[in-house]
Amino acid sequence: MLEKTDKKYILPTYARNYVNFVKGSNATLTDSEGKRYIDFTAGIGVVSVGHANAELSDVICKQVQKITHISNLYLIEPQATLAKKLVDLSGYDMQLFFSNSGAEANEGAIKIARKYGEVDGEIKRYKIITLEHSFHGRTISTLKATGQESMHHYFGPFPDGFSYAKDIEAIEGMLDDKTVAVMIELIQGEGGVEPQDKAKVQALAKILKERDILLIVDEVQTGIYRTGELLASNLYEIEPDIITLAKGLGGGVPIGAVMSGKKEILKAGDHGSTYGGNYLVTAAANKVLDILEREKNRGALDAIMIAFEVELEKLALTYSDIVSKSVGLGLMRGLRIKDAKTLAKIVDAAFLEGVLVLKAGRNTLRFLPPLTISQEEIKDGFEKLNRVFAAL
Ligand SMILES: *Cc1c(COP(=O)(O)O)cnc(C)c1O
Repeated sequence: MLEKTDKKYILPTYARNYVNFVKGSNATLTDSEGKRYIDFTAGIGVVSVGHANAELSDVICKQVQKITHISNLYLIEPQATLAKKLVDLSGYDMQLFFSNSGAEANEGAIKIARKYGEVDGEIKRYKIITLEHSFHGRTISTLKATGQESMHHYFGPFPDGFSYAKDIEAIEGMLDDKTVAVMIELIQGEGGVEPQDKAKVQALAKILKERDILLIVDEVQTGIYRTGELLASNLYEIEPDIITLAKGLGGGVPIGAVMSGKKEILKAGDHGSTYGGNYLVTAAANKVLDILEREKNRGALDAIMIAFEVELEKLALTYSDIVSKSVGLGLMRGLRIKDAKTLAKIVDAAFLEGVLVLKAGRNTLRFLPPLTISQEEIKDGFEKLNRVFAAL
């Protein structure tokens, strides 16, 4: 019945699974038939503090009973507090702009870069280099920034100035006097969960700084403790000019952010968003950060990351005939599956067994569990996955 309604009234842009989840608790979901699932996806890295987190839902409920939204024409107290918290925790001397999604955060970053390339009212430098297999969003310009030509059919003409480097090392050779920025993910989320080499990224950052080319790090997926530090940029010990955030920041409420070390570029009227950073989402994100910072400081986050890694390595080793290697960092993990058909089978069989997993690229089984997942949920989820792999 619901499936029929959905198919009749929702544009068919998603290859949807028609399960009807009715309740969540941390990394566990229950469907309308009462079946339980271990959630190793966290709504694609969004539900960072778990489903139905009591502290978070309490803050959200209390906030909407006071003010949900007033627009950016007035001071928004939790927005200022959130920006300060992100700056303090990251250690970067930056200011923030709040958007509603990852793509919109990247749009903001692209606009800052384009205006940074302005001289005397004209855009002199406008080229932005991204990486092959990257993912930066679905709006027209972030789609063009996405280094996957297969996604560029139908939607052109696109804005000019985007080109794709094969890898980090290939970027230097592509820089010219029209290049204003390089935008990268430190671990490509959709592209296969392979972390970039730290020394190579640091070398790139140095070259860009010398040439006054902006380094934009898209941390929409890697940010907010996903890799164990607030930002993957902290882990890589680099100082980007611009960092974008979304997914895990709101714990489920839609919020994105641009953090920029170039504070003087955008002036009043250059950019904006009606919803961006309203009371509801910034009150929630403040709580998400408080919870995750606390979990990090008391060692719980590191402990859970190690526990997850241990189970994942065990699975990879036991089924080395199916898995070629294990990739990723923190709770952004993947298993390279030797055969793409087997990967599709694993995702489907895991669902039937009661564990939710993701695909990335052509041959990666991807894991993005809530950062608060319990030891029992990890154990339960991997027992289920072991049964799935054993039955292949
Ligand atoms: C998900 C994602 C985006 C797009 O975010 P939306 O909120 O879907 O617009 C951009 N960049 C990266 C790295 C992502 O993982």
